[in-house]
Amino acid sequence: MARVYNFSAGPSMLPEEVLRKAAAEMLDYEGCGQSVMEMSHRSKEFDKIIKDAEALLRELMNIPDNYKVLFLQGGASAQFSAIPLNFMQKNNKADYIITGQWAKKAFAEAKKYGAAREVASSADKTFTYIPKTTREDFDPEADYVYICMNNTIYGTVYHEIPDTGDVPLIADISSCFLSEPLDVTKFAMVYGGAQKNVAPAGLVIAIIREDMLGNAREDTPTMMNYKIMADNDSLYNTPPCYTIYICKLVLEYLKSLGGLEAMKARNEKKAKILYDFLDSSKMFHGTVVPEDRSLMNVPFVTDSDELNAKFIKEATSAGFVNLKGHRTVGGMRASIYNAMPIEGVEKLVAFMKEFEEKNS
Ligand SMILES: *Cc1c(COP(=O)(O)O)cnc(C)c1O
Repeated sequence: MARVYNFSAGPSMLPEEVLRKAAAEMLDYEGCGQSVMEMSHRSKEFDKIIKDAEALLRELMNIPDNYKVLFLQGGASAQFSAIPLNFMQKNNKADYIITGQWAKKAFAEAKKYGAAREVASSADKTFTYIPKTTREDFDPEADYVYICMNNTIYGTVYHEIPDTGDVPLIADISSCFLSEPLDVTKFAMVYGGAQKNVAPAGLVIAIIREDMLGNAREDTPTMMNYKIMADNDSLYNTPPCYTIYICKLVLEYLKSLGGLEAMKARNEKKAKILYDFLDSSKMFHGTVVPEDRSLMNVPFVTDSDELNAKFIKEATSAGFVNLKGHRTVGGMRASIYNAMPIEGVEKLVAFMKEFEEKNS
C-alpha cells in the first residue's frame, strides 16, 4: 500500500495510527458486535464516546468549567450565521476584522442581522498580513469582535490575540485547531470545522463561555441555537456519530504524543523546514510577511504560471498531492496540519530543490 503525502487544505490527512485503529474496530466496536457507524446515538457505547471526546478536548485545551463544548453540524460556514443570530442581540452591533475569504463570508452573514462593521482589513495586499489593531479600534458597544485566527487560504495567523477590552472575542480556529496551546479564557467563543486537524468532515466543535448563551434572536433556527444545543449535550438530534468517534481517536492520539505543547514543537519544526527553504530558494517564494506566517498553511509561488503548473504536475506524480493554491490566489499551497509527518515536509523540500536545479 502506497500512501501519498496529502497537502490538502481540508479535508486533510489523519494520523495513520488513527486510521488503523478505526479499521480494526470497524466491524465490531469493543465487543458490542456492531460498527460505530451503525449504533444508536442514544446507546451507552456512543454516550461514552462523546463524553470521552469532550473530556479529552477539555484536558488537552485546558478548557475551564464555565465553557460549554458543543458538537455541531453545518460546517464552520453555518456558524457564520449562527454567531450573529445568537450573540448580536444586546446592541445589535458587531466588529469584524477581515483577513481573508472566511472572515469576509462571516462578515457578509452578520450584515444580514445587524450593524456589522469592518474594523480592519488586509485586502489591500491580498491578505498577506494580519492588520494591527488596538483596543481603541473596537466599538465598546459591539456585542462581539470576530476574527479568523488562521487564514487557511492566505497562510496568515494571529500570533498575538487582539486586545478587545471588555468586548467578547470570537474566533474561527478551523485550520489551527489543536495545532498548539490556545488560551481559551481570552475568548468568549472559539469554534472550528473538524476536517482540517481534528476529524473527517461533518463536525464543528464550538467552545462557548456560558454567560454568552441564552440571548439568541427569537427566530433563530433551533439547530443554530447554541443554548438549545448546550442544554441537550449536543444530542438534540442525531449528531455525526462516526466523525465524533474519529475525533475521539485523534484526541487520544494527541494525548499520547504529549499534548498540545508537543504538537506545537513538532509543527514548528515542520514549518521551519519549509520556510527556511523558501527563504533560501531563488525559484520558490513564500507570499506572507514573515511575522504573520501560519504553521499550518504555507502558500508559495514561482515567478511564472507555467512553472507553477509544471511543478504541481510533477509533484503530484511523485506522490505529493493537493499542492495547488486556492483558486483565488494561484501558485501553490502546502497545508501541513498535525497529521502531516515531518518526513512528508522533508521529502517535499528535497523534491523542490531538485526541481529548482533541473529548471533553472
Ligand atoms: C475550511 C474553513 C472554513 C469552512 O469550513 P466548512 O466546514 O466547509 O464550512 C471556515 N473557516 C476556516 C478558517 C476554514 O479553514
